[in-house]
Amino acid sequence: MSKPAPLYNRLALIGVGLIGSSIARAAREQDAVRSIVATARSAATRKRVAELGLADQVVETNAGAVEGADLVIVCIPVGACGDVAKEIGPHLSPDATVSDVGSVKGSIIRDMAPHLPKTVHFVPAHPVAGTEYSGPDAGFAELFVNRWCILTPPPGADAGAVEKLAAFWRLLGANVETMAADHHDLVLAVTSHLPHLIAYTIVGTANELQTVTRSEVLKFSAGGFRDFTRIAASDPTMWRDVFLANKDAVLEMLGRFNKDVSLLTKAIRNGDGKTLYEHFARTRAIRKGIVDIGQDSPAPDFGRSHAGLPHAPLPKPYASGDD
Ligand code: NAP
Repeated sequence: MSKPAPLYNRLALIGVGLIGSSIARAAREQDAVRSIVATARSAATRKRVAELGLADQVVETNAGAVEGADLVIVCIPVGACGDVAKEIGPHLSPDATVSDVGSVKGSIIRDMAPHLPKTVHFVPAHPVAGTEYSGPDAGFAELFVNRWCILTPPPGADAGAVEKLAAFWRLLGANVETMAADHHDLVLAVTSHLPHLIAYTIVGTANELQTVTRSEVLKFSAGGFRDFTRIAASDPTMWRDVFLANKDAVLEMLGRFNKDVSLLTKAIRNGDGKTLYEHFARTRAIRKGIVDIGQDSPAPDFGRSHAGLPHAPLPKPYASGDD
């Protein structure tokens, strides 16, 4: 059976980090576009993109990248998207689709839309997929498989352009959902932004303790701490921008979170095991729900491999013996 024709002729990627390079790899693998032109802010990244062969053409400027492109995806930190929109606006093809991958959507629409010509189809998007790594080497074609990509077209967006972009993301393996930008920001505030804030906080707290040494924190991290460190290793620029851009929704969720922490604090102080047990039983059910809908592996401990028992005698203090 012959493959369907590519959805777009020329994809312009502005920013080729984890997300941009994953889009490039997946779009290539799926023949989603005829050609890819890429650009990045630094000469070092542009050089690396060329070395990795991620695009048919690597150009120096954002304006140069979008010339003749029928799909433009801006893959840079949220706070930089407005300036880039201003830069590319005059150079866009009249009926191009312009999208992004930012983790906040309200601010993207506020910052980008005023700079885009009226004839252009602006369809913001957020692939809810990622890792704690950054840069063009970190991407991989399967990043979006079975992950959600949320489209937040502004009111009045062209339905055909929205559906075509949805088809593009489906071809990359994602499930697509459409929602209003402010609703997206509220949902993501609790499912992504708040967890990152908690991880950044707890890792910082542990690091600054006086009574527990730093080496003890690292040594005994399997007690839960290390799972927070993965999230807290996420890119500082990206996350600074997310919290600045989604201030209201994050503050609302943080308010609710603080209330719940107070309830659990009170339960611990009062020796109220019933409240603690009931709360933990509810949260355990949420983990099961995530596994049941295929959004994480059912393997214990996130599927980490565990070394077998050592054959050599156990070291002290576990070894039995006279000495
Ligand atoms: P990344 O790996 O750090 O790559 C960022 C890219 O943006 C690089 O090409 C970088 O260029 C460029 N860039 C950085 N600052 C810029 C600026 N001020 N102006 C122009 N270009 C700039 O980041 P990423 O993880 O791909 O994230 C990109 C976007 O995806 C962000 O908006 C983020 O919210 C969103 N997102 C991320 C994840 C995730 O888990 N990482 C998931 C979903 C969505 P240089 O390399 O030349 O500096």
